[in-house]
Amino acid sequence: MNMTEEDIQRMIQSVIENLSETKGVPEKTTQQIKPIPLKPASHESAPIAVGRASNAKGDHGVFENMEDAIEVGYSAQLSYVRDFQLKDRETIIEAVRQAILAEKETLAEMVYKETKLGRMEDKVAKHELSALKTPGTEDLNTLAMSGDDGLTIVEQAPFGLIGAVTPVTNPTETIINNTIGMLAAGNAVVFNVHPSAKHSSAYVISLINNAIQTAGGPENLVSMVKNPTLDTMQQLIDSPKVKLLVGTGGPGLVRALLKSGKKAIGAGAGNPPVIVDDTADLENAAKSIIAGASFDNNLLCIAEKEVFVLEAVADDFIFQMLHHGAYMLDHQELEQIMSFALEENKEQTASGCSLDPRRAYHVAKEWVGKDANLFLEKIGVKKDHDVPLLICEVDFHHPFVQLEQMMPILPIVRVKDLDQAIEKAVLAEHGNRHTAMMHSQNIDHLTRFARAIETTIFVKNASSLAGVGFGGEGHTTMTIAGPTGEGITSAKTFTRQRRCVLAEGGFRIIG
Ligand code: NAD
Repeated sequence: MNMTEEDIQRMIQSVIENLSETKGVPEKTTQQIKPIPLKPASHESAPIAVGRASNAKGDHGVFENMEDAIEVGYSAQLSYVRDFQLKDRETIIEAVRQAILAEKETLAEMVYKETKLGRMEDKVAKHELSALKTPGTEDLNTLAMSGDDGLTIVEQAPFGLIGAVTPVTNPTETIINNTIGMLAAGNAVVFNVHPSAKHSSAYVISLINNAIQTAGGPENLVSMVKNPTLDTMQQLIDSPKVKLLVGTGGPGLVRALLKSGKKAIGAGAGNPPVIVDDTADLENAAKSIIAGASFDNNLLCIAEKEVFVLEAVADDFIFQMLHHGAYMLDHQELEQIMSFALEENKEQTASGCSLDPRRAYHVAKEWVGKDANLFLEKIGVKKDHDVPLLICEVDFHHPFVQLEQMMPILPIVRVKDLDQAIEKAVLAEHGNRHTAMMHSQNIDHLTRFARAIETTIFVKNASSLAGVGFGGEGHTTMTIAGPTGEGITSAKTFTRQRRCVLAEGGFRIIG
């Protein structure tokens, strides 16, 4: 086919228009919207500001009804891709990062006071990490293929409106991390937050919306329902306007989202084992394990939850743990702690980290994320300094090994050799394929464990924290999607692939 100059110009124009649609390049320039004054930082009893489903100014992204949150989120996303450029997304994200950094102490304190979980200073660090190390638009890539037949590009386009569910263990941090990734990809998001953190969540959502609008972005790109329940979550699942579901929490949540019939990204429970072999740098192993297992009182899903140490180095390893501040519980002290930190599963129900109703114990929720010192105080052990972590020597079947207990109590199991360590560690991880750590100087040992355990995150000779960019290379995430396979989620996880083809010469038969 012979093409005229005019035909070629028309084709180029059509590709440019397609690209513009895909990237959301607007005809008009970014509009300026006045900032909204925020409510003062407070928690628990503070009334939550409620947004309206209209375009009225004064909305803070917090809505009485889920339908309203979905409605405004849907409209906000349409405006976001129609009226704003890719560079506007970066401006908006930078404003969100700065707003969080400026209020990281306030946010940490609010979450700490509302949830009564974890440690203040670690929550400050988690907010900082989420604000600084969550990737923005740089995470998006366009794939281009060119050749005799023309040019084809594959772009990462937004899903539209995302419905996201957050855990109590990282409530505001997950909102920040999800928001940055989802907005970078051109989406809007409606959250069904954990009810036990709804006040802090409402505050951070107000803060984010204010930052977005101050930067000139649209209203209500990020929203939530004021009183989240399982019913409001069902509305999110059922709404045809919500195109993607993202859930961070335990196995019940992941199962509920996967049953929804729409695309779902599930970030579920872990029970990360650590192996310490006979070649390990034992001092580094002890320091790293204490850092990871005591951080925020072991609330993190990636945190070291049980150790398998080779018999040959077990005594030296425990010496190093004690030397670096851990407290060893004797048999009687351990029994005392179990009497209040665990609950017998008399009803044979599934709960917490497992969907298995045959588990002998559940974790007593009121002791999740509490300071090691509080456990000691309760059993009458007085310490005049801060104890970051309690340790105990137990066998493989002990409930502290089997349960994702999320308390600063780390069980240590002696094993005779590496084969046994790997076998036990794989069983203790319960097929979550979440996170595992190993301390070893032997590359073959490291490789054998990594291949056997198949976790989304595998950390060698460092703390679990390195696996989410805390003292380790790579970006961070608060949503580690093991069950559905997206892994360390970021902006590109929240995109759809779209192919755009410019064929040269149309259809031709070879030869
Ligand atoms: P959770 O499962 O109790 O709650 C998480 C969210 O899901 C909440 O908003 C809750 O209201 C909702 N939910 C709970 N059960 C539900 C059900 N059956 N149907 C529908 N919704 C449900 O978890 P949590 O106590 O808030 O957080 C701790 C858990 O989350 C741990 O298991 C931890 O490992 C996991 N977690 C995983 C990641 C990850 O990235 N993989 C990150 C943080 C926490």
